[in-house]
Amino acid sequence: MLLSKVGNTLADFFLPRLCLCCNSKLHSSQRVICDSCFSQIEITSDERIKYEFDRKFSEEKIIDGFVSPFVFEEDGNLQVLLHELKYKKRFRVGNILGVFLGELNADKIESWNIDYIIPIPLHKLKKADRGYNQSDHIGKSLARYLDKACLTKSVKRKKFTQSQTKLNIQERKTNIEGAFKIKRTKNIRGKNILILDDVITTGATVTELGKVLKENGANKVYACSVALAG
Ligand SMILES: [Zn+2]
Repeated sequence: MLLSKVGNTLADFFLPRLCLCCNSKLHSSQRVICDSCFSQIEITSDERIKYEFDRKFSEEKIIDGFVSPFVFEEDGNLQVLLHELKYKKRFRVGNILGVFLGELNADKIESWNIDYIIPIPLHKLKKADRGYNQSDHIGKSLARYLDKACLTKSVKRKKFTQSQTKLNIQERKTNIEGAFKIKRTKNIRGKNILILDDVITTGATVTELGKVLKENGANKVYACSVALAG
């Protein structure tokens, strides 16, 4: 910790780190985003989580619990961070988002006794195009925070799906159906799994993966995302 602080201070002297949202100079203790920009991101209330769980997951009874620390806002600071991670290879954004997720939700996640974290996989063509799966970076960081393992090769996305942003809930469900395949069943059978996505909107994607995990013997399946939309 101390070493990383000294490292940050030294690095700042030569190459000041800037807030990704407003470009102001960061202090040595700040990471990626300044306090002022961070304070503009809305933290999800417990009531909102309960309401969204009922809306998105209670009917299908696949997802056993769900957390999401931040509310997604169009053109908001969190969208800036997610965009930098997703399209500009800013992997330290993934690290910090994983830490935020841990800091804000560790109590609840620890009460679930999870064995593994599984980030939503990308189709290999999309991964080849982007070069990486942004959710793997968040998942690995959250796993370090919780002292758990993050599995990035146990599930495959076999169906190439178009962007879901313009689809309604029923269209999203159809679009994602049959998209996932388990590659390593021994990591799934009898385990409690936490699925991680960057943003959860209708919940159709995590529900579909949860369904496949349970069909392959998973005990409990939980879901988390950095941001909650819709
Ligand atoms: Zn800022």
